[in-house]
Amino acid sequence: MDAAKPVTPRYPPRLNPSESDDLAQAVKNWALAHGLTIRPLPSVVPDDVDPQGLLAINVPVTLFPSPFPRQCFDQARSAQQTYNELYAAISRDEEFLAGAVEEVRDGDEFTSNLWNVHLRVKKEGYTQNLSLGLFRSDYLVHQDLSGNETQQIKQVEFNTIASSFGGLSAQTTLLHKFLSTSEYPLLEQPIAPESLMLPENDSVRGLAAGIRAAFDAYGDSELGLERCILFVVQDGERNVFDQRHLEYALNNTPEPVRVFRIPFSKLLDHTSIAQTPKRQLLYHLPRNRSKTFEASVVYLRAGYGPSDYPDQRAWEARYHLERSAAIKCPTVLSQVAGTKKVQQILASPRPANGPSALGRFIPDDAPLTAQVRRTFTNIYPMDTSEAGLKARQFALDPELCLNYVLKPQREGGGNNHYREDIPTFLEKTPESHWGAFILMELITPPKQENIILRNGKLEEGGVICELGIYGTCLWNQSTGQLLRNEEAGYLLRTKGDTSNEGGVAAGYGCMDSCALV
Ligand code: ADP
Ligand code: MG
Repeated sequence: MDAAKPVTPRYPPRLNPSESDDLAQAVKNWALAHGLTIRPLPSVVPDDVDPQGLLAINVPVTLFPSPFPRQCFDQARSAQQTYNELYAAISRDEEFLAGAVEEVRDGDEFTSNLWNVHLRVKKEGYTQNLSLGLFRSDYLVHQDLSGNETQQIKQVEFNTIASSFGGLSAQTTLLHKFLSTSEYPLLEQPIAPESLMLPENDSVRGLAAGIRAAFDAYGDSELGLERCILFVVQDGERNVFDQRHLEYALNNTPEPVRVFRIPFSKLLDHTSIAQTPKRQLLYHLPRNRSKTFEASVVYLRAGYGPSDYPDQRAWEARYHLERSAAIKCPTVLSQVAGTKKVQQILASPRPANGPSALGRFIPDDAPLTAQVRRTFTNIYPMDTSEAGLKARQFALDPELCLNYVLKPQREGGGNNHYREDIPTFLEKTPESHWGAFILMELITPPKQENIILRNGKLEEGGVICELGIYGTCLWNQSTGQLLRNEEAGYLLRTKGDTSNEGGVAAGYGCMDSCALV
């Protein structure tokens, strides 16, 4: 099967100029009408033009859904519940995580600081056993460059914190469904509606249901307060509508739940911890502090990178959340479980005698474990172990390095080093810090074509598509009991084939949806 196999004789069809204009207009209007939107960058709408922040624009999006191999799509979806279970188990394994943190300690102060938050809370004792995961496992389709036609789904990374775009991705699927009946059939090279296989995408409903499950599991307020959910966000967040879709879904039920958004930087100003053994997290409405709510669930859309922790007070804020009774999404332990170091350890080959790293968490010989393992690509440590020394040779060799990406323990895009940049980067990095990185083989997806509408302009050309599968998981950190374990829709992000990175909010990629082939 070929991912770039046209759905029509030429896909996407060649558009004449008036078709391009009309389709762009249709996308802009649908996107604004349905909140497939983002706040514009100052380079697009300068702050002095819109000082009150009134404006939103459509999120960068493809004019057509991208062909995606059905078999790869199904493979990724069917691995998600095992992935959920795996990461719940990892987050419960303190000894394993401590080992991973130790490996990156030299050179990665951020991960060490996170770990210290856990150690501090552990000393006084956690008061909340339940842990919520809204995960996203990201994949590229790998096509062997040696001419072997088989395509496999390969994991790029597993996100355990602030897995974004679930709000906008369901809308993107709906946009393409709308265009498939209203616009594509009228093109000079028409696409018949029934020829596009557009899978359902219930990411909004699924993620909101995960948050709701945690809210319900928390139970009533023993303090007699109204309960709420806190979305902890970044100051000046541009991707606000993505988050709002989840909030609105939580509200749009027979028993609506109250959601408050709070910037990470304001946590210590507007929340406090009850002087009780349970340590409930209290939210004081900033405009009327006499109105106090008990926060049952804290959903972090911030706190995943060093820039959210400019000073010690920010670390105190994270500690404050962690020691509270609110159900955290994620806990510090789950966040650490999502590091690239952990991904590398899991992907290490199974030794001849003894269980694999994966087998520590899920049964080594079960078919579902094999399914997860098949999504791994080669990832190496950059330490002084035998495997690490071999990886260092690859990384420093001007030819071999072209097959690799070097990753630090960071989230949010823009942190990796690709191909020929690896040796030069390593040369200026103290060798004692190399162990804080992992070296990953590049996945080589098939090239495709699409047209992206970004900031009012159409960009046409070669693209690469990255699939994300969402999962929700609610578990008991002490007993391991899984109270919820669901797959929760998908994300397709597409970027120009000359860009290394694929982040949409960071300006590299765009939203897309799958046309299964
Ligand atoms: P982040 O946590 O910053 O999102 P990722 O590991 O997802 O870091 O890498 C960022 C981007 O780099 C991905 O979205 C993907 O486009 C590209 N990338 C990462 N790893 C690989 C890989 N092994 N092969 C090909 N591309 C990759
Ligand atoms: Mg990523």
